Amino acid sequence: MKIICIGRNYREHAKELNNPIPENPIFFLKPDSALVRNNDPVYYPEHTNDLHYEAEIVIKICKKGKYIHERFASSYFQEIAIGIDFTARDVQSECKKKGLPWEIAKAFDQSAPISAFVNKDKFLNTNNIKFCHKVNGEIKQLGNTKDMMFSFNKLISYVSKFITLKEGDLIFTGTPSGVGSTFIADRHESFIEDSKMLDFVIK
Ligand code: MG
Repeated sequence: MKIICIGRNYREHAKELNNPIPENPIFFLKPDSALVRNNDPVYYPEHTNDLHYEAEIVIKICKKGKYIHERFASSYFQEIAIGIDFTARDVQSECKKKGLPWEIAKAFDQSAPISAFVNKDKFLNTNNIKFCHKVNGEIKQLGNTKDMMFSFNKLISYVSKFITLKEGDLIFTGTPSGVGSTFIADRHESFIEDSKMLDFVIK
């Protein structure tokens, strides 16, 4: 399986990092070794001094597809979760400056803790799902999928022009504003609507 991550999908987040608003979705990949499940702790990586959290809604692809039309894209995912796109922000800034790829800033081991999945039918409208991220009990990020510049269906359609999507692939759909640094011993909790989905610590 592969993990596809969307960048700059929420206007306010693009602004907070002084990034331009993209015309098309921006995406990058993480390997499966980035995943952390079951609220296992995340070990602060050695290669950064500025680890940032980015809480994101994640969709799981449920069947194989290429050149998926936006109109049919909703049938390609059935379950959603919430995950963190951990980013070595200092390393990423360096990569951006030098025009280098982002993998060491984004795709390292344990850079993608993820919650259990819930069926999307639980929600009235997948384009109006609230989510929230707390660090040490304080709300840091409040998001709603209605604020995405590119909807789940648009993302599936766009990514599948370039990469065949397969059952089990994950798409991290971008983070709202409020990203920030995290430190050893921080507790991270993420919610979809009112349900707590993630609860882990940095070690
Ligand atoms: Mg992200």
